[in-house]
Amino acid sequence: APQNYDVVIVGSGGAGLAAAIQAHDEGARVVIIEKMPTIGGNTIKASVGMNAAETRFQKLKGIEDSKELFYEETLKGGQFKNNPVLLREFVELAPEAIEWLANHGIELNDITITGGMSIDRTHRPADRSAVGGFLISGLVKNINSRNIEVLLETSVSEILYENGAVAGVRVVDEYNDSRILNAKSVIVATGGFSANRELVVKYRPELDGFVTTNHKGATGSGIAMLEKIGAGTVDMGEIQIHPTVEQTTSYLVSESIRGGGAILVSQAGERFYNEMETRDKVSAQIIALPEKSAWIVFDEQVRMNNKAADEYIAKGFVVSAPTVAELAVKLNMSEHHTLEATLARYNNFVIMQKDEDFGRQTALRHPLSEAPFYAIRVAPGVHHTMGGVTIDTTTAVLDSQKQVINGAWACGEVVGGIHGANRIGGNAVADIIIFGILAGGNAAAYARR
Ligand code: ADP
Repeated sequence: APQNYDVVIVGSGGAGLAAAIQAHDEGARVVIIEKMPTIGGNTIKASVGMNAAETRFQKLKGIEDSKELFYEETLKGGQFKNNPVLLREFVELAPEAIEWLANHGIELNDITITGGMSIDRTHRPADRSAVGGFLISGLVKNINSRNIEVLLETSVSEILYENGAVAGVRVVDEYNDSRILNAKSVIVATGGFSANRELVVKYRPELDGFVTTNHKGATGSGIAMLEKIGAGTVDMGEIQIHPTVEQTTSYLVSESIRGGGAILVSQAGERFYNEMETRDKVSAQIIALPEKSAWIVFDEQVRMNNKAADEYIAKGFVVSAPTVAELAVKLNMSEHHTLEATLARYNNFVIMQKDEDFGRQTALRHPLSEAPFYAIRVAPGVHHTMGGVTIDTTTAVLDSQKQVINGAWACGEVVGGIHGANRIGGNAVADIIIFGILAGGNAAAYARR
C-alpha cells in the first residue's frame, strides 16, 4: 500500500537535510530519499565555508561588510548573468541562515575569504576545518534527534503529477523493488551533474577528459525528473572548473589555502596571475601555461591556519622541504633560484600590502617565510554546475512559461540561475542552506494548508 507523507525530500546533501529539518519543525510529516549508501552528497566534500554579509560573527570580529557589496561582487563574479531576483533573496537571507545553523548547533564563527570577494565573509568552523563534514554531521544530529526518516540506497525514479499538481514519487530500492510514496510536496535537492561526463560534454565539449571533484551521485537525475513534469531550465552550459584540483586523486585543494596566503607558481617558478581572482579566470590562466598545471606554494603558517592542509599531507600529495631552494629542486624546477626570488618579491608585496605584479588585493596575509615550505601540483577539474531548473523566490519550480508547478520545490545545486556564469567560492554552502530552509518551510505550509 502506498505510504503517505506531507513532504518528500529527494537527496540528503546540505539542501535536502536543511529542508527536511525545517519542514519537520513546521509540522510536516517528512521523509528523505537518498540513492547512495551514505548521507551527505557532494556537500560533505565542501571545503572553504559559507559566505554571508552583515553577520553577528563578522561584527564580533570587527569586519565591516554590506549585503549590497556582497550582491555586487557575486554579480560581477557571475559575469552579470545571475538571476538578480534570486540573488537578492540569497544575499538578504544569508545572515539569517548563519543564525539558523548556529541555533541548530552548527556554529560557523571563523571567517576567511575566497576569490572575487573583497572582504572576509566566508564563515567556517572555529577549528578552521573544512566546512562539509562539520555541516553534514551537525545536520545529521538534528535529523536523528527529530527521528526524521531517511531511506538510503533508494532512488526516486519519477515525480508523480496528477490533476494539475504533484502527487508523490516513485522510489526504487536496493533490491530493485519499486513503490509509491504519496505527498503533496516534493522537494528536489539532488545536486548538480558534474559527475555525469556525458551531460557535461554535451554542453561543453572542451571539458572532455577533465577530472571531477564531485562524488559519483552527482548525475543530474533531479533535473531530468523535473523536466518530465514540465520544469524549465537555465544556464545548463555554465559549468565551473575549479583551478586547484590535485589530478591523481581528483582531490580539491581548498580555496582557503590561497585565502590563507598561498600563491600559485608555474613550473618555471614564477607567479603568473592574481591568485585571488575568480575560479573561471584562475582556471583559464593555468590552462594557458605550457604545462597546463601549476604549483600552489605555501609555508608552515598557512598550514597551521588550515586544517585541510594536514589532510592533503596525509593523502601523500604534498611536497615539502626545509628551504625554498630545496623545494624548487624537489619540484624539478630548472632554475632553482627563481622560486626563491618569486617568494622574496611576493613577501615584499605583503609587507607593502600592494602586489605590483598582478594586483592581488586580498589575502596578502603574511610573508611566506616560515619553514617548512609546501607545494601541491594542481590543475582545473569540473566542480560545479551553475545551471539547473528554474525556481521563484519561494523555491517553487517554474515551468518553461515561468508558471509555478504546484507542489514541486527545488533547492541547492539542482537549481540554476543564482550563480550566473561563475560561482564564487563559499556561495554553494550559502545557497543550499538558505534555499533549503526556505524550501522546507514553504513546502510544509503548502502541503498542510
Ligand atoms: P546540494 O549541495 O544541492 O545539497 P548534494 O550533491 O550535496 O547537493 O546532495 C544531493 C544528493 O541527492 C546526493 O546525495 C545524491 O546522491 C542524491 N540524489 C541524486 N539523485 C537522486 C535520486 N534520483 N534519488 C535519490 N537521491 C538522489
